[in-house]
Amino acid sequence: LMHLTKKLIEIRTMLLSIDQSDSLKLPSIVVIGSQSSGKSSVLESIVGHEFLPKGNNMVTRRPIELTLIHTPPSSDGSVPTEYGEFPSLGLGKITNFTSIQKVLTDLNLAVPNAEAISSEPIDLRIYSPHVPDLTLIDLPGYVQISSLDQPEELREKISTLCDKYIREPNIILSVCAADVDLANSPALRASRKVDPLGLRTIGVVTKMDLVTPDQGVGILTNNRYPLHLGYVGVVAKSVGKTSSASTGTVARRGEDDYFSAHREFFGPSSSSSGIMVGTDTLRRRLMEVLESSMASSLHSISNAVQLELEEATYQFKVQYNDRRISPESYVAETVDALKARFREYATQFRKPAVRERLKGMLDERVMDIMEQLYWVDKRVEELGALSADAKIKTADDMDVYWRHKLSAASSLLTKSGVGRDATVLVADGLRALIDSIAGGEPFNHHPRAAERLVQFSHVILRDRIGMTSDQVENCIKPYKYEVDMDEREWEVGRTRAVELFEKEVMMCEGKLSEIRKKVGGRRRLSGLVGYVKELEEKQREKRVRKLKGEIVDVDVDVDEQEDVESYRYPQGQILDARHAMLYGDRLATLKLRLAALKSKRCKAGPESDVFCPEVFLNVVADKLAHTSTMFINIELLDHFFYQFPREIDSRLIYDLDRKEIIEFARENPIVRRHLDLQDRKDKLEEVMKQLNSLSTLRADATPTPRRQ
Ligand code: GDP
Repeated sequence: LMHLTKKLIEIRTMLLSIDQSDSLKLPSIVVIGSQSSGKSSVLESIVGHEFLPKGNNMVTRRPIELTLIHTPPSSDGSVPTEYGEFPSLGLGKITNFTSIQKVLTDLNLAVPNAEAISSEPIDLRIYSPHVPDLTLIDLPGYVQISSLDQPEELREKISTLCDKYIREPNIILSVCAADVDLANSPALRASRKVDPLGLRTIGVVTKMDLVTPDQGVGILTNNRYPLHLGYVGVVAKSVGKTSSASTGTVARRGEDDYFSAHREFFGPSSSSSGIMVGTDTLRRRLMEVLESSMASSLHSISNAVQLELEEATYQFKVQYNDRRISPESYVAETVDALKARFREYATQFRKPAVRERLKGMLDERVMDIMEQLYWVDKRVEELGALSADAKIKTADDMDVYWRHKLSAASSLLTKSGVGRDATVLVADGLRALIDSIAGGEPFNHHPRAAERLVQFSHVILRDRIGMTSDQVENCIKPYKYEVDMDEREWEVGRTRAVELFEKEVMMCEGKLSEIRKKVGGRRRLSGLVGYVKELEEKQREKRVRKLKGEIVDVDVDVDEQEDVESYRYPQGQILDARHAMLYGDRLATLKLRLAALKSKRCKAGPESDVFCPEVFLNVVADKLAHTSTMFINIELLDHFFYQFPREIDSRLIYDLDRKEIIEFARENPIVRRHLDLQDRKDKLEEVMKQLNSLSTLRADATPTPRRQ
C-alpha cells in the first residue's frame, strides 16, 4: 500500500497543476494551530530538519504546500542524499536545510506588510530516505486572543485562509499545546465546525513535558472533545539546540527520554495502551490516515478525472479537430509566414516598381521647377508662341535667354539631392512595409517581437542609406554636366509630359469645380472673382497714390479700408475666389504649354529642347530614375532582401530559449487557449493512465511490511 500513497501523491501534484477546482483534489494533511502552539516544531520533527522560518514577526504568511517524498536506498545499499526543491522557483536541488529556511523566510517576508497574509501557496518538496510519503500544508498560525497587538482584520484573514484548506477531503492536523486548555484552542474550534465527529481530524498535543504525566494522559484520553482519529501527544521541542543548529537536524532524543521516563503512564509501546505518544507514532498515524483517505478518494477522483477528460477530449476535437500544436511549431509557423509575407510584399520593390516610384518623385520636382522658373516668367507666352509656330525664326538674344533658363532648370533638377532623396524614398517604403507587418496579425500579439523586428530592419536600412545615397549621387553625376538624348527618348518624354500636364489640367479643373460648387455656381463665382479683382485694383491704386503722397495716412488706413470692404462678402468666399483665380491662371498656363507640347516643333525632337523644357526635363528625370533604381537595387534592396530573412532567424528565434518560446507562443490568445486545452487534456490522460494502473496495482496488492 505504500506505493499507493506515493503514486497518489504524484497524482495529487499533477492534479494541482491542472486546476484548483475542488472536484479534482486528492486529500492532503492540513496543519492548523495557534501561534506558538508548537506547529513548526511538530512539522520539523516529522521532517527531521529545522527548515521553517523562525521569529516573532508573523513568519508564516503564505500556505506552504509541503510534499515529502520518501527516497528508498538504491540497490547497492547507498543512502540517497536529502534535498529540498521549490519547483516553481527553479532553484534546483537544495541540500542545505538552512538555505531552504532562508528561501522560505524570504518568500514570507516578501508579502507586503499591508497584506500580511497571502493565499498563494509556496510549493516545497523534500526528498529524503528519512521521511514518509506525505503531503502537508502548513498554514499561518491562529492569532491568540491574548495577543491583542495583532489587529482583528488579520485574525479574520487567517481564519478565512484556514477555513479554505480544512474543507473535505483534507485531513486536519489540529495542534494544541498541553499547557493550554483545549477549550481555548482555536484549531480545535475550527476543525470541529467542519468535522464535528473528528472523522478526519487528528489532534496533536504538544509540549507534553510542560504538564505532569498525569495531566498529559488526561488530555490525550479526554472525552470532552472526542476525535474519532484520536490525539497524539508529543514533545516536539528540540533539545540540545546547539548541536542541532550546525546540521539543521532536529534531535528527538528529548522526546524519547521523556516518554520512556514516564513509561508507567504512557506505556512501553505507545499504541498498545490506547494512548498515542511520540513523533514516530504521529508519523505512522499520519501515513495510515492519509493512505486510507486517499484510497477511499480513489474511486471518486477517478470518476471526476474521467469526466473532465471526456469533456477536454470533446472540446479538443470540436474546437481544434484534434490538431496538436507546440510552442515551437507556432514559432516556426510564425517565422515562415513572416518570410512568405515579406517575399510577397517584396515584389513591390522590383526594379520597374521602384523606377516608377522614383519617377513620380522626380515628376513632381519637374513641375515645381517649371513653376518656379517658367510659369511665373512674363515671357512664357512668348515661349508658347515660339513652340507653337515652328516657322518663326528666333532672334539670337531670345534663344540665349531660354537656353540659359533650360540649363538652370536642368541643374536644379540634377543637383537637387536626388541620390539621398531617392534612397530615402525607397528606404521609407521598406520601413513602412516592415511597420505594417509588425503591426498586423500575428505580431500585434507579440509587441516585443514586433519591436525587435522593426528595430533590426531599421538598423539594416540605416547602415546602408549613407553608402547608397553616395553611390547613387556619384552615378548620376554625369547628368549634371550634359544629357544626351535621342529621338526615341525625346518622343517618350514628350508623351509622358503631355500625360502629366493633362493630369495637372484635370486636377485644376477639379479644384475649380469644387470651389464653384461651394460658393454656389458659376455665375456666383464669376461675380465674386470680379469683385475681388475690383478690390485688388482699388487697393493697387490707393497704394500708388499713397506712394505718390496723394493720401496722407490720417483717417483712412488702406488695410482697414480693405477689411471693411471685404465684409460685403463672407471672408471665406473671398478666399475661395482668390483660390479660383490662382487655379484659373494655372489652367491658362497649363493649356498654353499643353498646346506647345503637342505642336510640331516639340514633336521635332531633341533639337527643340529650348522651346520644350518640359520634355527635356522629363527625359532627364527618366534617366535619373533609371540610374538611381539600378544602384539602389544593388546597394540597398539586394542587401536588405538578403539580410532581413537571416536576421529573422538569428534575432527573432535562435536566441530564444525554451521558456521564451513558450512565453512567445502564449502571447497569442488563440494559441494560448489551444495550448491550455491540449495541455489539460494531456495531463488528464496521464493522470487517468496512472489511476488505472493503480487499480490494477491495488487489485493484486499483497501487504508489504511497514517501514519503521
Ligand atoms: P508555532 O508558532 O506554533 O510554529 O510554534 P513553535 O514550533 O515555533 O514553538 C513555539 C515555542 O514552543 C518554541 O519556543 C518551541 O521551542 C516551544 N516548543 C515547541 N514544542 C515544545 C514542546 O514539546 N515542549 C516544550 N517545552 N516547548 C516546545
